[in-house]
Order: sequence, then structure tokens, then C-alpha cells
Amino acid sequence: MTNPATTDTVDHWVGGKSWTGESTRATPVYDPALGSAQRSVRMATSADVSVAVKAAAAAFPEWRDSSIASRHRFLLNFRELLNARRDELAQIVTAEHGKVLSDAAGEIARGLEVVEFALSMPHLLKGEFSQNASTGIDVFSVREPVGVVGIISPFNFPAMVPLWFFPIALAAGNAVVLKPSEKDPSAANWLAALAAEAGLPDGVLNVVHGDKEAVDALLTHPEVAAISFVGSTPIAEHVYRTASANGKRVQALGGAKNHMLVLPDADLGLAADAAVNAGFGSAGERCMAVSVVLAVDTIADQLVEAIAERMAKLRTGDGRRGCDMGPLITREHRDKVAGYLDTAVEDEARLVVDGRDATIDGEPDGFWLGPTLIDQVPVTSSVYRDEIFGPVLSVVRVSGFEQGVELINSSPYGNGTAIFTNDGGAARRFQRSVQVGMIGVNVPIPVPVAYHSFGGWKASLFGDSKAYGTNGFAFFTQEKAVTSRWLDPSHGGIDLGFPRND
Ligand code: NAD
Repeated sequence: MTNPATTDTVDHWVGGKSWTGESTRATPVYDPALGSAQRSVRMATSADVSVAVKAAAAAFPEWRDSSIASRHRFLLNFRELLNARRDELAQIVTAEHGKVLSDAAGEIARGLEVVEFALSMPHLLKGEFSQNASTGIDVFSVREPVGVVGIISPFNFPAMVPLWFFPIALAAGNAVVLKPSEKDPSAANWLAALAAEAGLPDGVLNVVHGDKEAVDALLTHPEVAAISFVGSTPIAEHVYRTASANGKRVQALGGAKNHMLVLPDADLGLAADAAVNAGFGSAGERCMAVSVVLAVDTIADQLVEAIAERMAKLRTGDGRRGCDMGPLITREHRDKVAGYLDTAVEDEARLVVDGRDATIDGEPDGFWLGPTLIDQVPVTSSVYRDEIFGPVLSVVRVSGFEQGVELINSSPYGNGTAIFTNDGGAARRFQRSVQVGMIGVNVPIPVPVAYHSFGGWKASLFGDSKAYGTNGFAFFTQEKAVTSRWLDPSHGGIDLGFPRND
């Protein structure tokens, strides 16, 4: 298998092999820690996307009709190969995304969990049966695949987000066209080639690279039945509206601004560790990153001091050098995030740790910004309101529980939130009061395990289905209910062999 991250150009993957398509457009792919383009990626035209969709549509009937046993075997093989070669994939993720190697390994581990969950497919695809619903009449329902599924993923989890969706879509018997982020495209090709090695028939999983043109082609293509999208809120909304208007089933997961409320009775050491981990892991480029700490006035000074102390020990630099935090994804994004530091000063917040002063263990041209802590951020400031998506942790001081919950609920987003407290009653009241999809109690990044589903509320999710878990199987299948009456029982003749599953 060729490592796509060692080629000069990242091609599409269609019909079980690399494919150049007809487009002459390409865009550079950077190593953010080096700050230089390493290769380019092809940008599909809508005609290219159509070729990929046709390949998926052609492969679909045979895959749909394949036995559960054979699809299960494919997934087992895929799981074994991915597990054995996860370090190779982590290197690719770090080289194009910039996150440190241990973090890249972490996203692959979470993706593997979804593959392992998808192995429950024989059980989850079982239908329901009502014997003798009426005299002599049985009723049963079965789950069938929806057809060709389009998956559009963001830059920040180039391996995990595709793995949230395609293993379940394939387990359920669908064919897939995946459009990963053009900023770190190679992981998707690597996964598709691995699936081929694991025995997936050609055309069942395809990868097209590109931007708006490719995405819009998927959203409007008559042979695409469903769209799973993860990215920023404005694009999620566009995807939801366009794909629904074109008759597709859609789940579109959007952006976030996650708050962590720290009550006075919390273990402040634990809370400070959590704020640092969840604020600066992956340079804050996580939809479940904590970007606002809501500190109750009485403990705020102590908490800010504890967070700053811990930040002083973080090493920012090349993810291959054992650092804690890597660069941002592009120079433009780095500059945009750094711009919020000026805004913070203009808005009279207190810049406690300025990431622009950080010592960097990496090449000078990398897209660096060190961890930043801003205290006393006014809630009117764009530093508080915007999803910054960088290593910037804001502290907002609140009078107590009620004001904290009020702020959380006034955010347009509802992805994740956490409370730090030793009061079980307060934690329970918090969990019941917040309008947020994923909640942590003394857990800063409450990403549900693969057998629960992942998704936010409000502007963090358009559509009514979350990712993976049982929601994933429901999204990628449609139900058929059969009412049947047999007047004359029959049998299948004589065969003394032991029954087999083929
Ligand atoms: P993005 O919205 O810029 O891009 C996501 C995908 O949409 C990419 O494949 C991109 O090529 C495509 N795209 C970009 N512009 C488009 C346009 N105008 N029309 C059609 N398609 C377009 O997001 P990103 O910067 O890659 O990722 C970061 C964002 O994703 C953050 O907002 C983050 O919160 C969000 N995110 C959310 C979740 C979640 O589960 N809710 C998970 C990860 C990331």
C-alpha cells in the first residue's frame, strides 16, 4: 500500500484505486510544523464527484445483498489491520494536521472504538417480529441500507471523524463517498486503501478531494441518499438546507463554544488540570475543547493562578519531538486566532499568559501560537462569543451556579459542557438544566463512548440524528415493515449437513 502522504499529489480514490479525475485544480497541503507545502491535493469538479457517486451506486447492490457474515468478516479484518498499523496513520495525521503524535494516536484509538462498535452490527441490524399479530398474520420489520452515502469531514480529526461514520455505513450495507478536508487529505486515502486490503469490494468506499464545488455536487446529486457532515456551523447549516432541499437524509454537526463551570467546592487542582488539558490539547482545535472557564468569584483568583502555573510547563513545538502542543492548521488561522489576543486587550480583559511569547521547539516558519490565558473576559467581547478554535482559554467570573448555567444556555451553541464540583446535587441540577448535548461531571471533554451517540444541541447540530452509537445505525438504515400471511407451511427439503453461515 502506497503511503499517500509520501506522494507529490494526493489523488482521489475511486473504484478501489487512485484516480486523478479530470480537474486541473489542486491546492497545497502543508506540514504546519514546518510551515511549508509538502504536496498538493486534487480538487474535484462536480463531474469528478459524479464519477465517484456512480462507482458507489454501481457497487451498492452487491454490497447491500452481501451476507451479514461477510460484511462482519470485512470489518473484523479492517479492525485488525487498523489496530496493527495505527502508528503509521498517526504519523500521517501529525504531518498534515500538526497535532502531537500522542494526540494523533488518541484520535485513532477513538476511531477504532467506533469500528469495534460497528462489529455489533449482526445484533443491531436485527429486526423485530410480532408473531400472530392478527390471526394467522405475522408482522416483522427489517433495517435496510439507504444507498450511497456522502460523508464530509473537517480538518481537525482527519482520521477519527471519517471513522465515526463509514464503518457503520458499510456495516449496514451502504456504499460511501467520503470528502475529507482538503487541508489534511491523506488519512482518508490511507483508510480507503486499508479497507481495500481488508477485503472491501471496489467502489464501496470512495474518496474525493475538493472544496465547495465537490461538497455541493454531493449535496445535490440525485444518486446520493444521505449526507453526514461535520464542520463549522455556517457550512453545517448550508449543508443541512441544501441536502434536505434535495431530498436527502442529513446529519450536520457544527461548531461549538464549550464552557466549564467550576464551583467553589470543586477540587481546584483537578479543575486546573482539566482546563489545561481540554483548553490546549490539539492546540484547542477540537469541537469539544473547553474555551471558557466559568469561575465562581470566590475561587477565581486561585483557579487562574493554578491554570497559569500548569501552562508554564507546557512545551509547544513539532508534534514529532515529544512536545505537548503543536501548531495551528494554517498561517491564516494562526493569525486570526492571534488577532483575538489584541481584541482581548482592547476589550479590557487581562492577558495572563500571552501565547505569542511562547518558546517554540520547532521550525521558525511553523504556524505557532503558544497557550494563552485571558482572565476577566467580558461576555460582550468577541473573545467570549466566537468559536476561536485555537489555544486560547478565557476565564469569565460568575457569582455562582445560576449565573454560570444562564451563560451556558444563552450561547447559540450546545455541543459540550462540564461542571467541576463535589456536590452531587449541584451536578445533577446542572445536567438537567443545561441545553447542551454532551455533559461532563468532573470530566472536561465528555466525548461519549462509541455505543452512545455523539452530537450537540442548537447550532452545534442540524438534523435530528447524532453520530455513531445506535443513532448511527438508525441514520444509515431505513425500516421496512412486512405484514404476512401464509396459509400453507412448507419446508426446504432434506440436507443432513450442519447449518453454516455464508
Ligand atoms: P469547515 O466548515 O471549514 O469545513 C468542513 C468541511 O466542509 C470540509 O470538508 C470543507 O472542505 C467543506 N467546506 C468548507 N467550506 C465549504 C463551503 N463554503 N461549502 C461547502 N463545503 C465547504 O470546518 P473545518 O475548519 O474543517 O473544521 C473546524 C470546524 O468543525 C469547527 O467549527 C469545529 O467546531 C467543527 N467540528 C465540529 C465537530 C462536531 O462534532 N460538532 C467535530 C469536529 C469539528
